Amino acid sequence: MNDLKLAGLTSEKSTISIEVNGVTLGGKEIILMGGPCAVESSTQMSQSAETVKKAGGKILRGGVFKPRTSPYSFQGLGREGLNYLVQAAKEQDLLCVTEVIDAQSLDLVVDKVDLIQIGARNMQNFELLKLAGKVNKPIILKRGLSATIEEWLLAAEYILAAGNSQVILCERGIRTFEPSTRNTLDLSAVGVVKELSHLPVIIDPSHAAGRRDLISSLSKAALAAGADGLLIEMHPDPTEAVSDGPQSLYPEEFVQLARELGAVAKSVNRTFTFGAPRDRETLESLRTRITNLDQSIIEQLAARMKLVRKIGEQKRLDRVKDSNREKEIVQRLVGLAEELQLPAELIKRVYSLIFEFGVQSQIKSRLAQEQDLEQTFISSGSK
Ligand code: PEP
Ligand code: MN
Repeated sequence: MNDLKLAGLTSEKSTISIEVNGVTLGGKEIILMGGPCAVESSTQMSQSAETVKKAGGKILRGGVFKPRTSPYSFQGLGREGLNYLVQAAKEQDLLCVTEVIDAQSLDLVVDKVDLIQIGARNMQNFELLKLAGKVNKPIILKRGLSATIEEWLLAAEYILAAGNSQVILCERGIRTFEPSTRNTLDLSAVGVVKELSHLPVIIDPSHAAGRRDLISSLSKAALAAGADGLLIEMHPDPTEAVSDGPQSLYPEEFVQLARELGAVAKSVNRTFTFGAPRDRETLESLRTRITNLDQSIIEQLAARMKLVRKIGEQKRLDRVKDSNREKEIVQRLVGLAEELQLPAELIKRVYSLIFEFGVQSQIKSRLAQEQDLEQTFISSGSK
């Protein structure tokens, strides 16, 4: 393999480490990455991020551009999904990674995510590899479904030769004659790559197995084989996943697996720390969470006002204020608030303002409605 000028071993004959925003890949510590196959909603991503954090994971994954085998399968949420991924990662102080499939998607994500994935189906998309070589972000390069290790390393060489030295290889199963798993996890690839290259290698057991019952054992085997990290699909509710549900772990399974990884890591002289660091919630991450909550409060408030105006259109002007209905609402909400340990007084004051502005906006829209009618009447009369 003479052409592995940059991907080949350096003189120290060992894996180099890649440092990205406080996380080191290829060092002593095993890096756990997890998340759904595809980004589906903001809630799904927040829940996934919470689970990754709880397990001691460092990187949140989620596809927003999905290179699907069938053109009729879900193709990803694109820009909208990207925002969900980035926000969720930020909320939990995690890094995030997503897959790119062409120049446009690369352009769109490059400044937003911490790492970029090039998927198995694009491993030999040489133009994309060259573009990935021009960016200043680590690239997770998956092994193609039918690629030899040499082809895979040469694909990495494309990225390195174009100027990006931060490539992480990811073995994700290769196509064999065996039908009981989706693909066959080539665990020996880890050792072979480490003999030939200085690049860190991680394992994705999910796409290899295609079934969740094998993920735990394959993950442990991957660490024993010398992998530097794991990329695992996990979904808050795999039965509802739009893609790769059968291979996605339930959150509890993901956490349980992480709980067991430390001992395996230790047996091969590596480390993995289960659980979220105790002082993980920095001031910045707490503030980001508040910003997100505030935004959704405002959105909900706007949606409420819209409904209130709609109701107003159906009422007579002298019936706009309905004190009994207001009392009923407050009573119900105070009950709810007490269950959530919120002071009743807060609810009463906030809702008195909400009602006041609601009534005003109903009156305004009724008056506008009547003015419109008048105008129509005048202009039709003057014809
Ligand atoms: C994925 O990570 O969701 C994915 C599509 O993986 P692969 O390219 O390995 O099939
Ligand atoms: Mn997938």
